[in-house]
Amino acid sequence: MATIGFIGLGNMGAPMAANLVKAQHHVTGFDIVATATAALAEKGGHPAAGIAQAAAAGDIVITMLPAGPQVRAVYLGPDGIIAHARPGALLIDCSTIDVETARLVTAAAAEKGLQMLDAPVSGGVIGADAATLTFMVGGEAAAFARAEPLLNAMGRTIVHAGPAGSGQTAKICNNMILAASMIAVCEGFALAEKLGLPAQTLFDICSKSTSQCWAMTGYCPVPGPVPAAPSNRGYAAGFTAANMLKDLRLAQQAAGATAAATPLGAAAANLYQLYVDSGAGALDFSGIMQFLSLADRRK
Ligand code: NAD
Repeated sequence: MATIGFIGLGNMGAPMAANLVKAQHHVTGFDIVATATAALAEKGGHPAAGIAQAAAAGDIVITMLPAGPQVRAVYLGPDGIIAHARPGALLIDCSTIDVETARLVTAAAAEKGLQMLDAPVSGGVIGADAATLTFMVGGEAAAFARAEPLLNAMGRTIVHAGPAGSGQTAKICNNMILAASMIAVCEGFALAEKLGLPAQTLFDICSKSTSQCWAMTGYCPVPGPVPAAPSNRGYAAGFTAANMLKDLRLAQQAAGATAAATPLGAAAANLYQLYVDSGAGALDFSGIMQFLSLADRRK
């Protein structure tokens, strides 16, 4: 049994922490939303009063926060993780953030003799619930070896991507591909509707054809074919459109910095910007289906 501090108990963090509890680990959790901290306690975890208390409670500290600014604050602040972690603790950040912040925080941890990994995930809330996430991990091999048994309690595919920041690099590429494929799937369903082909029929065909992809078969943006998908509950997130836009911006920044041509990634970023600006930032990213159909109807 490991002692774990877990900070950030939102859509992803809550089920990930619950799976660590299920695997018999001693998990002390904290979220600025008090009901999220209380919900972990109901599942057998232990509530902490703040970041410092959660950080000091584990030989391993895991974070699942929205973005780079929150990660900097939670790790580097005077009441933060690095100031309060146990000597020799291993820190694992599972948030999706910019590579620069990942490297900065890892360097600050190293100065205090703490090992750190960037370990963002893929698989969404469905994968977080089912403990089938993919972890893409950046950092030293020894830290990865120490983390692997715990990550196995929350995921099914655990990949050591390379040195610090490599996990974040893999993640922004993954999400750029995901956003473009989600938009393509939405366009296909919108066109089929116009042509009078039922969504279920298109799904039955395409899920066994060359357009098959996770955005369709794991997370279908039209209600019906995939019962667990957010499309069946009014596009309640899931993975918010605001977080998808954040990741697309990270990918575009990286593409600019390396002169990589990513025309579909740029188009996806612009479409998600419009969708979020329409007031849909808190909805699931697959809700762009409604936005694209609406645009189509206005023609
Ligand atoms: P979320 O907004 O639901 O959860 C983040 C949690 O962090 C919230 O509960 C928030 O209250 C908490 N938080 C923020 N600041 C805090 C602080 N200072 N101290 C303690 N808690 C704090 O987001 P999420 O969907 O769980 O995503 C988390 C990260 O995982 C993001 O970087 C996202 O891009 C990434 N991600 C999400 C999904 C998904 O499907 N939701 C999939 C893969 C990766």
